Amino acid sequence: TGAYHSLTQLCENFRIPTRHDLDTAEYVLSQFPNPDHADSRVALIDSDTNQRVTYAQLHRSIRALASGLYHGVGVRKGDAIFLLSPNSVLYPTMCLAIFSIGAILSPANPAYTVSEIAKQVRDSGAKLVISTPEEQHKFAQIGVPILLTARSSDKDSLCVEELIEGCDPLELPKVKLTQSDTAAVLYSSGTTGTSKGVILTHANFIAVMTLLRWSIYEISAQDDIFLCFLPMFHIYGLAFFALGLFTVGVTTVLMKRYDFQAMLQAVEAHKVSNIPAVPPVILGLVKHASKIKCDLSSLRRIGSGAAALSKELTEEFRLKFPWVELRPGYGLTESCGATTFFVSNEDARAHPASCGMLEPTFSAKVIDIETGTALPPYKRGELWIKSPTIMKGYLGNEEATAATIDSDGWLKTGDLGYFDEDGFLYVVDRIKELIKHNGYQVAPAELEAVLLSHPKIADAAVIPVEDEESGEIPMAYVVRASGSEITEQQVIQFVANQVAPYKKVRRVDFIGAIPKSAAGKILRKQLVSDAHKQQTT
Ligand code: ATP
Ligand code: MG
Repeated sequence: TGAYHSLTQLCENFRIPTRHDLDTAEYVLSQFPNPDHADSRVALIDSDTNQRVTYAQLHRSIRALASGLYHGVGVRKGDAIFLLSPNSVLYPTMCLAIFSIGAILSPANPAYTVSEIAKQVRDSGAKLVISTPEEQHKFAQIGVPILLTARSSDKDSLCVEELIEGCDPLELPKVKLTQSDTAAVLYSSGTTGTSKGVILTHANFIAVMTLLRWSIYEISAQDDIFLCFLPMFHIYGLAFFALGLFTVGVTTVLMKRYDFQAMLQAVEAHKVSNIPAVPPVILGLVKHASKIKCDLSSLRRIGSGAAALSKELTEEFRLKFPWVELRPGYGLTESCGATTFFVSNEDARAHPASCGMLEPTFSAKVIDIETGTALPPYKRGELWIKSPTIMKGYLGNEEATAATIDSDGWLKTGDLGYFDEDGFLYVVDRIKELIKHNGYQVAPAELEAVLLSHPKIADAAVIPVEDEESGEIPMAYVVRASGSEITEQQVIQFVANQVAPYKKVRRVDFIGAIPKSAAGKILRKQLVSDAHKQQTT
């Protein structure tokens, strides 16, 4: 059939639970450290305030909030709840309380504007909004009841903190749930088009949690101190920090948002050993390695996902931080988290351009875009995947669902990639983002990798610019390293020396910073529209 299958199996201790009436919250809570240890074991540390939350406190607050949402607010099974909040120690409690009463979690970026919020609230059919007092003003015209996370000057409104303090965790309502019920509607990043509501079930999350537990044990990270700055509204942060890590009993240090210096200080202050990260973080560490004053000797592992990490950058990172294992992975909102991952650090070191092997339970195909046939190792095509973590579909968009999941359950990722003969995956780029130059296809990620390898370039992004003669030309936005005066011609020449002529960067613009999403993705759409505006004015 031309399919690749995971080469790793889940051992006896990590079977994906099949009990029909299990929900995500019950599963996560059942994996908490046993009650004798839960009192002292710290689940979360707020890096701003040093507030500590033990597993016992977390357990209590999840159940108290669930009971408060049900009895006090009247939330019922199937009600969607729109959650707009930066990371906080309350975030996981809110997610798990929502799950445990069968309501549907729909989180969003706290930086969203009123119209972006209105769109998601409408699309998800949210019955309740949970938001911070700081963001409350954005909901003035939304017309959906709002629950604030913390007390505000508005004394009449209920808030999450009060519900947790005032409700009895033992009055947890018995809501009948099954694994096939919807747990969350997460919106994809909207990198390539408008973002779509991805329907994820309890079965999806339970499978992802099981895989995460398995991988943490496999790499013996049970004693790690994790650092979280990835946003919990995105699947990567949600799966790790709002849910998954509690199933292995580790401690997580929480940052509200990403900041390079604050990250370094948090690693030193809390002896952080493990950072699930994204490529801009790796880039920052590599480019600023010589200027880092903080003690990073506690770091054992750093992950990278959500966007492409080049071979060059990977190797440079390993040279500069030889005591840290760098483990890339690949995943999508539609797969509820990681699809590939490196279990073995030796494998990771030996395959610096790869993002790992299929996780257990996953199968994949590489499909020739023109002929639709499955391709053998080393041949590039569209990556299709199948696993118990694959979404149910896109909310209210049967057309997009049918175009994305075929009748055999294969999810078409829209990513161009290939496997080697040992089963390691290489993601080339998104098919939609390939630049079409004179009939050839140029992958922006490949050119970005070349640009980033230049010591005088701090960051770069490549986009297509319309061109009458050749269709499109690759244009680079470049951030100069501090003190550097590298010119457009030097950049063009540097790339030209390393790639085939049709791939050459043909235009360069210098900017202060590359716009990126909170999950570390280059906001290419924004750059394309900037370039377009510039061209037409
Ligand atoms: P949208 O689907 O709305 O355009 P999006 O695809 O960016 O947005 P996500 O689900 O957050 O939204 O991201 C998944 C995508 O991120 C993948 O399809 C892939 O293109 C990219 N990606 C994730 N991990 C990697 C990786 N290791 N290397 C390269 N690309 C990656
Ligand atoms: Mg996508």
